[in-house]
Amino acid sequence: MCADRPIPKVDRPCAVCSSRDARIIRMEEIQPVVRCLRCGYIYCNPVPSEVDLLAYYDGSYTDWDHWEQTFRHDRQYVFTEGLRRICRYQSEGKLLDVGCSLGIFLEGARAEGFECHGVEVSEPAARFAGDRLRLNVFQGTLHEARYPCEFFDVVTLWDVLEHVPDPRSILREIRRILKPRGLAVVRVPNVNFHLSRSRILSAICPQRDPGLDTLNHLNHFSAHSLLALMRRQGFERPVLLPGTPNIYGRPLIDSAKKLYNSLAQMAHSLLHLEIATIIEAYAFRRP
Ligand SMILES: [Zn+2]
Repeated sequence: MCADRPIPKVDRPCAVCSSRDARIIRMEEIQPVVRCLRCGYIYCNPVPSEVDLLAYYDGSYTDWDHWEQTFRHDRQYVFTEGLRRICRYQSEGKLLDVGCSLGIFLEGARAEGFECHGVEVSEPAARFAGDRLRLNVFQGTLHEARYPCEFFDVVTLWDVLEHVPDPRSILREIRRILKPRGLAVVRVPNVNFHLSRSRILSAICPQRDPGLDTLNHLNHFSAHSLLALMRRQGFERPVLLPGTPNIYGRPLIDSAKKLYNSLAQMAHSLLHLEIATIIEAYAFRRP
């Protein structure tokens, strides 16, 4: 997003409760991070327009083979576990992956017997999923795809909702295209973990502090704000789980991540504390 020209910014209300009463809690390099004074939701405001964001993501993939290798390796652990969790609730039918990237998750879901569909804004990534993996992928935004009402049994958003300028409209559209009692799966970074890590690192080793990655992430959900948003947009009986961490093929770091994830799973099960780096919500469309 570091373009030479100034990028116009769009002012947003709180996505959870619609309030415009918010306070700046951090001045990140790219844009301010605010906390809603009514409900506590944390988000970037103002943010670039959707047009600028789409141009940014369209240029994100250039080397297909490199991205395929990287995605397959890094995401396999996440997607295998995600699919296992989905199959607890729904093991067949029409599945849509929003922001499906190269289609690696859909490939696994198709092998499990789902009828798979994808939406991807990046033209090269959508073309890869269609041409190389023979997947049914619409290139564009979810709204542009204009799927019929009550069409899907499952809709997944793997690490997508934190990137979009209007998360409410995405969830509303997912509610429209899901069958009654259909399953929505949303995976996002846990802001409580990332804020705590940033505070600790900025005190002891500021140059290693990654902040909240406001170049890519516009919305910063906690378990509380994610579930509140989903309930308000028409989803019920949500189950919140610690997300499986991304694995990047660096043995020491990956082992540390898996160990921390085990601790987070215990904290979740025994103490109802959400300290995982990533959280996943599984919720059903209200009939
Ligand atoms: Zn709010």
